[in-house]
Amino acid sequence: MDKSTSGSPIPERVLLGPGPSTVDGRVLRAMSRPLIGHLDPEFLQLMDATQKMLRQVMGTDNRMTFAIPGTGSAGMEASIVNLVEPGDRVVVAVCGVFGARLAEQARRNGAEVVTVEGEWGAPVDPAAVAEAIVAGDTKVVAVVHAETSTGVLQPLDEIIAAAHAQDALVVVDAVTSLGGHPVRLDDWGVDVCYSGTQKCLSCPPGLAPVSFNDRALECVKNRSTPVRSWYLDVGLLDGYWGQDRAYHHTAPISMAYALHEALLMVCEEGLDARHQRHRRHHLGLVAGLEAMGMRMQVENPEHRLWSLNAVRVPEGVDEASVRSELLTRFGIEIGGGLGPLAGQIWRFGFMGASSTENNVLLVLAALEAALHSQGVAAAPGAGVAAAIEALATD
Ligand code: PLP
Repeated sequence: MDKSTSGSPIPERVLLGPGPSTVDGRVLRAMSRPLIGHLDPEFLQLMDATQKMLRQVMGTDNRMTFAIPGTGSAGMEASIVNLVEPGDRVVVAVCGVFGARLAEQARRNGAEVVTVEGEWGAPVDPAAVAEAIVAGDTKVVAVVHAETSTGVLQPLDEIIAAAHAQDALVVVDAVTSLGGHPVRLDDWGVDVCYSGTQKCLSCPPGLAPVSFNDRALECVKNRSTPVRSWYLDVGLLDGYWGQDRAYHHTAPISMAYALHEALLMVCEEGLDARHQRHRRHHLGLVAGLEAMGMRMQVENPEHRLWSLNAVRVPEGVDEASVRSELLTRFGIEIGGGLGPLAGQIWRFGFMGASSTENNVLLVLAALEAALHSQGVAAAPGAGVAAAIEALATD
């Protein structure tokens, strides 16, 4: 426990919620490096290296791939505010909190928003999105790749094909997928993508990786009204991140050190190996939870995120008490449900450095103990045993 500052103790936690995830000591140490100026040639080099690694992790050659100060929501705002002008038709796929947030941001930018709703626990039907796209003069299609509120992995190919057939631009939210699931912007034809640092990249919250392709930049250039946000205007940001290196804002130096180090760690591990690690621990956890008699919120295994596992709270169990016991007795953070799923699901984030075999076995054992406190009788050790089996076979 760290009592070094104001006297308010900060405990160590095992972070298995929807974010932030565990941050490696290497990244924390990088944050404590001496500050240098945001136009110092050494810092500019670090920015270049960060952009290069971000391109690799996002699967893109997009020149305008960079990190915006702010969390994932700032990346979302940057994507929407640059592309959308009042009166534009924007189609948004919504099957959880973050799709709804995208729609709200588009609305606040004066768009005519058409939402295509899906059940909270399944992807939005791509055919329904395609139908909505052709039903009008659609300019932007926005979709969440990894819906953290439900644990759903949204298939993108059909939606992207339908959008491009209408010449619409595609915005993809990869906040909970980047670094944990394959994300290949160029192969998939994504025009704009944003993410966050605190999930599968295992960096503290505070920066939003964003990538705009040339089509998207062209669209921004041809706007008939100025981008409503000065701070998030990609044209102005290009002045700092591009060739000119002109002052736009004071870059958050220590966060830039952190992201650079976190990306180095991702690249050292290798993207394929990292994705497979997330998959393996997801399968181990699911095997354990199901052996304990629980049911995943997302029925089709193909549509389950590896980074965020949503499970139904068993009948008669006080979900908040279990979460509280996990936190106070075992120091483990997990998440509860949001919106209509509040009180109904638990969310286990296995993101970045949090996605370990140790954590699979630890949380299953701790969950068994917390359920036992609630009077739930289960076969002792069934979850851990099933997870061990699954981990051995994968
Ligand atoms: N999009 C998704 C899918 C998210 O999971 C989140 C946060 O959990 C956000 C957007 C918003 O990110 P932030 O909370 O970092 O602003």
